Amino acid sequence: MKPYSSLKSILAEFFPLHRTLASDDHDKTLEIVGSYMPDSSNYTIETYAPLTPVWTWKVPERYVVHEAYLETEDGERIVDFKDNPLHIVSYSLPVDKVLSFDELQPHLYFNEKRPHTVPWVFKYYERDWGFCLPKNTFDKLPRDRKYHAVIRSEFVTDSAQGFKVATAVVHPEGGPNPEAGEFLVQAHTCHPIQANDDGAGVVSTIELARRLAENPLPRGSMSIRFWFGPETIGTIAWLAHNESLIPNLRGGIFMEMTGNKNKIAWHHTRQHNHLLDQITHYQLRNIEHEERDFAAAPANDERVINGPGVNVPCISINRWPYDEYHTTDDNLDIMHENMLVGAAQIAEEIIRIYASNYIPRRTFRGPVFLSGHGLWVDWRENWALNRAIEKIMMRFEGQHTVFDIAEQVGLDYWTRARVRRKIQSERICESASHPIGGSDLVGQIANLSHPKS
Ligand SMILES: [Zn+2]
Repeated sequence: MKPYSSLKSILAEFFPLHRTLASDDHDKTLEIVGSYMPDSSNYTIETYAPLTPVWTWKVPERYVVHEAYLETEDGERIVDFKDNPLHIVSYSLPVDKVLSFDELQPHLYFNEKRPHTVPWVFKYYERDWGFCLPKNTFDKLPRDRKYHAVIRSEFVTDSAQGFKVATAVVHPEGGPNPEAGEFLVQAHTCHPIQANDDGAGVVSTIELARRLAENPLPRGSMSIRFWFGPETIGTIAWLAHNESLIPNLRGGIFMEMTGNKNKIAWHHTRQHNHLLDQITHYQLRNIEHEERDFAAAPANDERVINGPGVNVPCISINRWPYDEYHTTDDNLDIMHENMLVGAAQIAEEIIRIYASNYIPRRTFRGPVFLSGHGLWVDWRENWALNRAIEKIMMRFEGQHTVFDIAEQVGLDYWTRARVRRKIQSERICESASHPIGGSDLVGQIANLSHPKS
């Protein structure tokens, strides 16, 4: 794994590339992403042959643009693909025609609200050809002239030059636990020369992978699978080729548009009140945020992961909406390191609770001899926790998860982590006389009641 100075610096490496569905620059992007993923995560790129049926879809062809420009009949160049790949509609058909302005106009795209920008337009499936240009340029085009439209593009169906996605897996302490299954984190790599959508989600996901590799989840937790590729069709093609993974997927987060200066938003799972929703809700309770229904705009791969025949509970995290969306203004200038890292942190905290959550079962009788097991909490130091212990001990009947119990008795899940940091910073040993708190206490009593082999 290459070290990095900032997430923005990784983003800057692949930002300018023409990263459309299946393309040489998309391949390069997946290579760059892989170079920053943890060495232990077995980052793997899969290739699917173009036109292979994948569920009700088919794998797209590789798109190659040799040359593309629009000029007036007398050779005055208006836009050129060389200057910016957004100047052509993604997956434009080839064209070489002289047209009147009226014939040309249906093939021109601009953004009314941001007249200085070039918009990003794609026609992957209802294929046509087209050019994208600033509204300001469009307004100045002479209406009485003829235009020469040239797009020399190619759709490659050679199976060796297929459509690519990448995955990697970070395991908990001690290796995978097949019973616990996997949690999926996705970000997409397919928007040419745009930063927030979704290069931002990609680098936030890299940061998340690094954190979970450096400080693994506790033994017995879920493994975390990371996925990078083109939106929607990428996930469909991947799952259609890996259906055996579906029963092991226990939840997911789709990360996108995480770098602009906006509060975080999250979208519910399709189940709406799933444990993953509850944990996300809990985790964001003290942070200003927006909460939306499943598949509210902007909807993405959660519609595949949490969709028909898959239905793995999946939330989405983003900082949408933003005015620069799908234009040349979505660039590195609107990316903020603290926003990119902040989104990774939120996802990390949700995963740390969700992926290590389990249902403890009592094997003891009678109240637990707390001080005999180093679990006694001094009421002078933590009254609430001292009072909660009775209630905790009543909740190991195989109905509640560790997270539920902490919620029911009103304990902060993360108290424990803060106390541990404090103790470490004071350089004194942790002992039973120090207050312990949160679900960790629940977990410790639970372990006592149900020792794991
Ligand atoms: Zn988009």
